[in-house]
Amino acid sequence: MSEYRPIAERIKDYRPVELRPSRGFLSEELKRCQDCGIPFCHAMGCPLHNVVPEINVEALHGRWESALYKLLETSPFPEFTARVCPALCEGSCVQGLNGLAVPARLAEYEVSERGFENGWIRPLPPLRRTGFKVAVAGSGPAGLAAAFRLNRAGVAATVYERDRRPGGFLRYGIPDFKLDKKVIDRRVALMEAEGVRFRMNVEAGVDVSGRLIDDRYDALVIAAGARRKRDLPVPGRDLGGVLFAVDYLSAQNRLNSGEIPSLPPGFSAAGKKVLVIGGGDTGSDCVGTANRQGASEVSQFEIMPEPPAVRSPANPWPQWPRILRTSSSHEEGCRRRWNIDSLEFAPSEGAPSKVGAVKCREVSWAGPGSPPRPVPKPGSEFTVKADLVLLAMGFTGPEETPLMPDGLDAALRGGGPEMRIYVAGDAARGPSLVVRAINDGLECAARVLKDLAARAPARKSA
Ligand SMILES: Cc1cc2nc3c(=O)[nH]c(=O)nc-3n(C[C@H](O)[C@H](O)[C@H](O)COP(=O)(O)OP(=O)(O)OC[C@H]3O[C@@H](n4cnc5c(N)ncnc54)[C@H](O)[C@@H]3O)c2cc1C
Repeated sequence: MSEYRPIAERIKDYRPVELRPSRGFLSEELKRCQDCGIPFCHAMGCPLHNVVPEINVEALHGRWESALYKLLETSPFPEFTARVCPALCEGSCVQGLNGLAVPARLAEYEVSERGFENGWIRPLPPLRRTGFKVAVAGSGPAGLAAAFRLNRAGVAATVYERDRRPGGFLRYGIPDFKLDKKVIDRRVALMEAEGVRFRMNVEAGVDVSGRLIDDRYDALVIAAGARRKRDLPVPGRDLGGVLFAVDYLSAQNRLNSGEIPSLPPGFSAAGKKVLVIGGGDTGSDCVGTANRQGASEVSQFEIMPEPPAVRSPANPWPQWPRILRTSSSHEEGCRRRWNIDSLEFAPSEGAPSKVGAVKCREVSWAGPGSPPRPVPKPGSEFTVKADLVLLAMGFTGPEETPLMPDGLDAALRGGGPEMRIYVAGDAARGPSLVVRAINDGLECAARVLKDLAARAPARKSA
């Protein structure tokens, strides 16, 4: 139900594609929210448990400030989720049983933007400091949420980030046409004004040792994400022009922000036939980016079957609907295929060190046994031309770093006698969503605060 800028216009730039909802549209939609008997959106749908109907009734009657405070009770960064959340709440909306769900995400957008425009969202530094200090490794949504909550509770929170600017995948994964990076800068400025300290270009465990963190802080929150990329180790993988999707997306975001003067060699899709391998959201982001860069053709192949247009009986309401989704990027031009396995990257005839084609094969999932496995379809092999291949097959878990030399188990064992180590976000649960990362960060901070409170008397007597 979102409205977007016209394709012919938006494809020429990286500005956000989604339009702000009109007041008339929202009012009509929010009335439908008030017809709900038992709302499932906040209990079953939203990981943050936003009280959607209560927020919406305030918004419906134009009580925007009150709507905002209800939203902020559970959600520290509604401006992020209002832009990039798949809106799990809408998946369990009662109205969605027989028709279209109430667009709660768009209401969240309007409520939060009015909060900024009217100065209702402003720095709220803690009135008292506890004397405790906590280091947060990673400035993605999980690290930001943990630092936000800890700081508001009077704990001195320092965020260490190995990248140049804060935000994690909000900044260096999600394209600008979905999330304008000014939205992250605005939030980081607020957090700094509240007292959170950001240390950029510092890799915890490398540039600042675990021992130093141990000496300086009462606890460490690892919010380093799940950034080990899933590869496709087939013949020809080393050819030029076969890139990880996230490297490709991050380069374009860095170029847009002026962080780099030009794309690295081979990273532009201009004039190229682009094949995106992986049918998920990251793949869709690659489609939108490749079209903006001027690709001559964009295809997206997925090994899994095409999802159904409507819920299957095995996926009833109020579960999240596992149905076919067509993103604004797909609408801008893309050939999508399902049940396709990629077997080999073949060199280009003119430039043998670069990819020129991909050998593929159709599969079916009807084979015996459980869980289902892809079964090659005899005689279905085919070759597609591709000068740029983007691997968008997700992530397998957290990277190994000196902070987590053998993975998280070691990190959890690694603290000194007084040091407490906590893990939040994708680093703890595996690749997921911004809203879950935010919720994990908040929950992690609550655990840290509880443990610090238990240590407080001992510290006083020391
Ligand atoms: C291309 C792409 C598009 C996506 N689109 C969406 C979307 O539209 N909606 C949605 O809900 N989700 C989306 N996601 C998923 C979402 O971005 C992640 O689930 C979320 O960002 C995870 O948050 P996090 O804080 O756990 O980790 P991350 O965002 O991965 O942040 C981890 C941070 O830790 C830093 N770091 C790592 N190790 C260290 C260290 N030792 N010291 C200091 N810093 C360190 C990293 O540099 C990074 O900044 C997308 C993901 C990708 C890749």
